[in-house]
Amino acid sequence: MSKIYCSVVIPVYNEEDNLRPLFERLSKTMDEVGRPWEVIFTNDGSVDNSGKILAEFYQARPKQVRVIDFNGNYGQHMAIMAAFERVRGEVIVTLDADLQNPPEEVPKLLALFDQGYDAIGGHRKDRQDSQGRKYASKLINFVREWTTDIKMTDQGCMLRAYSRKVIDAISRSGERSTFIPALAYKYASKPGEVEVEHAERAAGESKYSYYKLIRLNFDLITGFTLVPLQLFTLLAMACTGGTLALIGILFFRRFIYPGASEAEGVFTLFAILFFLVSVCMVGIGLIGEYVGRTYQCVQQRPRYVLREIMEDLSEG
Ligand code: UDP
Ligand code: MG
Repeated sequence: MSKIYCSVVIPVYNEEDNLRPLFERLSKTMDEVGRPWEVIFTNDGSVDNSGKILAEFYQARPKQVRVIDFNGNYGQHMAIMAAFERVRGEVIVTLDADLQNPPEEVPKLLALFDQGYDAIGGHRKDRQDSQGRKYASKLINFVREWTTDIKMTDQGCMLRAYSRKVIDAISRSGERSTFIPALAYKYASKPGEVEVEHAERAAGESKYSYYKLIRLNFDLITGFTLVPLQLFTLLAMACTGGTLALIGILFFRRFIYPGASEAEGVFTLFAILFFLVSVCMVGIGLIGEYVGRTYQCVQQRPRYVLREIMEDLSEG
């Protein structure tokens, strides 16, 4: 049998209404590309009919379809990681299951791969998401640009393609809470970008609450830089300087220029104190983020547990 050219990886969490049109459009596009391909769906603990529908796809095209069934919900990035560990293609494409990334755009990414790019990011021409999400993305984009050396136009777009080498490096990393496009960027030798279409979610609702989005973006920042911690050290140094100056002023007013009201400075001091206490709380939270992640790593629990895996790897 000829070697697989492209593996498409799709995480699925309660997407029963999107799966059929997705599979139909994807199969059509990939058949037209005309080179051997496979698709790996990870069922990330769906509680609707997604699992059943995926099993149907496998029955219909066992040579093209592989299904990884998690025993629970581990999140989009872990679902993608599990598939990465099993891909056979030379080029690996990730795609969302909700049809926001049109499968018809995949050949655009493949064209760039054929030109020698090894991590190709889609960036959404006309992003169809709420205004709030777009502003949040802008903010996190700014923080990432500023604290890490990862350059990406549209980190949130999951329509991306990677070479096998990059994917193998990601699998070897064995990370837990991570942000795949950023990790891939670090391992790539020739990253590229291409503009892709973006549609509104076809059915169902977004699986990301604002809370989950904040968690994901913490993964992005804490996973790739220690700058936030270092900023606190700098801030502590600045505060020490400020405090010394304040002591100087108070000393001057107490002994050299006595007579001013003793009470007037108290509220200023309170304001400064409250400010510093809140800064300390942010700092403790931040240290907690890093320590918590370290803790999860040293526990060495399996990153995910499979219920079942449907695949037919026989040749022919
Ligand atoms: N997803 C997943 N596990 C989760 C959350 C999401 O596998 O815990 C999948 C989901 O089915 C979809 C993709 O990840 O295929 C992106 O999710 P969603 O469309 O909800 O994110 P958004 O487009 O709102 O950022
Ligand atoms: Mg979506």
